Amino acid sequence: MAHLTIKGLVIRETDFGDNDRYISVLTESGARIEVLCRGVRRRGGRMANAVRLFCWSELTLFESRGKYTLNTADLLTSFWGITADMERYALACYLAELAGEMTDSDEECPAATRLLLYALRGLSDGSRDPVIVKAAFELRLMAESGFEPDLSCCGACGGPLGEEIWFSPREGMARCAACAERLGTVGYRRLTPGAARALVHILTAEIPRVNAFALAEPARGQLARICEEYALCRAERGFDSLTFYKTLEQQT
Ligand SMILES: [Zn+2]
Repeated sequence: MAHLTIKGLVIRETDFGDNDRYISVLTESGARIEVLCRGVRRRGGRMANAVRLFCWSELTLFESRGKYTLNTADLLTSFWGITADMERYALACYLAELAGEMTDSDEECPAATRLLLYALRGLSDGSRDPVIVKAAFELRLMAESGFEPDLSCCGACGGPLGEEIWFSPREGMARCAACAERLGTVGYRRLTPGAARALVHILTAEIPRVNAFALAEPARGQLARICEEYALCRAERGFDSLTFYKTLEQQT
């Protein structure tokens, strides 16, 4: 039985039995692991608050044949601010679920963990536009997971894209104006200049800055639709947490 200490972000919690909890953790090195936390909900237990959803904690674990059991937990940062607002909380749940979907125990993607931490921070302290946080997370997470769209040149002729850019979220490719005219625009959207700049920013910025920008309509709405479609095409599934977020978003 191996003994290890890691830093990790709790992205899912499931209580069971009288005092136990099962958590999914996105580790600092970008792997997703499942950890059994026995007796953690016992009255007066001081570790319970370190293994709750959206806690960034230092965890000491026992590992045996790929299964992890919690030994000790110390809270480093919590993003409690998120729970004060239902819409932001729902969005955070979706981002965590998406991160969980794109990571696993075998492959390490440290950027996934950092992206989620900066998204949660932006939502928790209210310093970022939730629509931008969501779009930036969706697109950059996919890029870091091996699905980077090509916006460097026209996907059809290989030439420069110019001012008029058409982009297909499904194909992850762009077309220049001439190729859009020649080949058609089915599945392609003509990017507003603001959305085009934002896509490039999201793909190239340092991770702490990835969601640090503002965008006016209609570019903001277009960016949101494109990034969401891009992520859902790559994840190849829908998310109940996203559906729930959208019902809240429509009410505001
Ligand atoms: Zn072209």
